[in-house]
Amino acid sequence: MIYDDWTSLDLAYAHATDYLHGLRKRPVGATAGTEELVKLLGGPMPAEPISGTATIELLEQVVAEGGIPTASGPRYFGYVTGGTLPVAIAADWLVSAWDQTASLYNLSPAIAVAEHVAAQWILELLGLPEHASVGFPTGCTMAHLTALAAARHKLLAELDWDVERDGLPGAPRITIIGGALRHITIDFATRYLGFGSGNTKVVAVDDEGRMRPDALRQVLAECEGPAIVCAQIGDVNSGAIDPVGEICDIAHEYGAWVHIDGAFGLWAAASPALRHLVSGVERADSWACDAHKWLNVPYDCGIVVVAHPEAHRAAMLNERPGYLPARTPGERDAIEWVPDFSRRARSLPIWAVLRTLGAKGVAELVERCCANTRRFAEGLLRIPDAELLNEVVLNQVMVRFGDDDELTRAVIDRLQHSGCCWFGGTVWYGRAAMRVSTVNWQTTEEDVDVALAAIRAAVADVYASDGVELVDHPNRNEALHS
Ligand SMILES: *Cc1c(COP(=O)(O)O)cnc(C)c1O
Repeated sequence: MIYDDWTSLDLAYAHATDYLHGLRKRPVGATAGTEELVKLLGGPMPAEPISGTATIELLEQVVAEGGIPTASGPRYFGYVTGGTLPVAIAADWLVSAWDQTASLYNLSPAIAVAEHVAAQWILELLGLPEHASVGFPTGCTMAHLTALAAARHKLLAELDWDVERDGLPGAPRITIIGGALRHITIDFATRYLGFGSGNTKVVAVDDEGRMRPDALRQVLAECEGPAIVCAQIGDVNSGAIDPVGEICDIAHEYGAWVHIDGAFGLWAAASPALRHLVSGVERADSWACDAHKWLNVPYDCGIVVVAHPEAHRAAMLNERPGYLPARTPGERDAIEWVPDFSRRARSLPIWAVLRTLGAKGVAELVERCCANTRRFAEGLLRIPDAELLNEVVLNQVMVRFGDDDELTRAVIDRLQHSGCCWFGGTVWYGRAAMRVSTVNWQTTEEDVDVALAAIRAAVADVYASDGVELVDHPNRNEALHS
């Protein structure tokens, strides 16, 4: 019998814990290229079965030799990836082992209730309306899709148009409004929903990238018919936060729906120390957020919250075929709140983290990352010719070295191959920049200091390759940012 290789589970457990305990010692960044990886993983598809144990052994070898980039390690500062808390991984393992479909209450009452509890806790933690409905899609992109589908339903139903039945052809036109620096996934969602991303009305932003309320008012005043305003908490580069309270008030004056992209930034609402940054956020109509970034649960796990549960449900599942049970009040059927039909119980790691950390622990996780970012900012300012490009409000800082884009790109390239730490690049208002994102519970002050030393060394190296010596001198923006 080839199916019952239970020892592969023990082996996987041993390799997984080895990997996690050794994370700090592994090189941060890929050490093997495609060719080596294909050699390890590829070849012709086997005609005959082998043991599961052998397959798991091979996977372990791929990570050991193939150097899978440790994007979840404590000195990975690229993108906004987040780490994973041990209890979240443990819960996720159980989700796989139990393999219960988290779609309907009667498929797994335990999962349905855990998901309901996680939903209520999230509303409380983020200070969102307690009557709101909550779904757990794969990520923030699908959270946008779900929320904007709910918005589309409600705005068109108010004009007597049944969009679920009749679609968009001939429907009253809905205007999508977003800030100039909205995340690209807002555009994905508007595309999927048939609005067309090219039709989005763009609102001007200030020099930190925040939507300007006066500009929003002007766009709304010129707009005919229903509108959806997409505001942002936590720009993917700078962490900048739109003035969401004011945006909600202006948009609601015009009868528009307000959707918040708070993929990572919305977690600021969970911190009493940072909550003021997002004041008024509870007045929006829908929110999209990720758990797989700042809450440090494994991929993939997003959160969608809608202040209008009937619209939310109508957009997802408003008719049930005969083989599905009728809706029973008090019993959660997840298929009413996400686009998926069959799905894994991805909400369980969220429940486990909230149950374990409590409100205080989540606040500390968020604040700890912000403190690490401030430590980065202060340390970067001590590197000659480093220039910070944003006001540090959350967990993001951008830095640039010297006046030449190539210099900054060369520093990033060196760091990405250093094995010590990993940073990504970006373009900020036309200038090359290095992004620093701290979203991992494991990152310590020491990790930050080690990374800062590596950055300084990389800058010195790049200078040296141009025959220039890196000399300390009063930093150009020390006065600006101190
Ligand atoms: C990451 C991110 C998204 C997309 O989230 P996914 O979970 O990758 O779908 C959207 N908006 C912002 C601001 C983000 O940082």
